[in-house]
Amino acid sequence: MAELRRKLISEQIKLIRPVEGAGPLDDLSIADSTFLNELESRSECPKCNKSRKYFCYTCYVPVREVEGKIPQLELPCMVDIIKHPKEIDGKSTAAHAAIIAPKHVQIYTYPNIPEYSASNKVILAFPSNEAIKLDQFLDTISNTEETSEKEPSTKKAKILPFEKVVFIDCTWNQTKRIYCDERIKGLQCVKLTSQNTLFWRYQKGKPKTYLATIEAIYYFMVEIHTKILKLPYTHQYDNLLFFFKFMIDKINDVYEPLS
Ligand SMILES: [Zn+2]
Repeated sequence: MAELRRKLISEQIKLIRPVEGAGPLDDLSIADSTFLNELESRSECPKCNKSRKYFCYTCYVPVREVEGKIPQLELPCMVDIIKHPKEIDGKSTAAHAAIIAPKHVQIYTYPNIPEYSASNKVILAFPSNEAIKLDQFLDTISNTEETSEKEPSTKKAKILPFEKVVFIDCTWNQTKRIYCDERIKGLQCVKLTSQNTLFWRYQKGKPKTYLATIEAIYYFMVEIHTKILKLPYTHQYDNLLFFFKFMIDKINDVYEPLS
């Protein structure tokens, strides 16, 4: 089982290469994860009692040994992640977001998803042909006044022209199928303004800019913060990549650096 899990993680991160000149995620302000390495054995998930190493990827909680040590943060808007039922839980980075930003992240398994509609101020992070860049989104809002009347869930939500971003977490082909679902189809698609990725994962048939779900969420949050809220970025969301960086470092330790 441990072997399988290691294999899955290594497949997930396989062939990640840092951008030239930068160490993996070194420029980000990410909490020290040394304590994760000190975990010697697996333990039970506090919710489902299944054996887990660092966190439960089905309940989205850390194991007891590291409770209170995992960085927690708040996001500028709500995030829904839709997973394909065939996606292997242990392989997905969606759980990272739910564990690190539990107040703002919900994970759904397709086809059990909410009834979304564009009028509910939900947007879809998906680079369809019709997708607009996040910084163009403001131009499409003709009347932003009503947003200020909305429920004051967070101070920031008052000035955001949307309340929720939906991400699809599965392979490229599965994503297309979910994208065509009636409940998703009507949503405004948005894509990142810049494709300045720290990493790229080369996988057959995927563009070099293909991002792991947690990376996509991270970049979207940074763009929402800087391009829509127009606030200075002071590494508020870097810890979203806490487990991601940990896994990359681990893989780099186990395997020879990729040339
Ligand atoms: Zn569990």
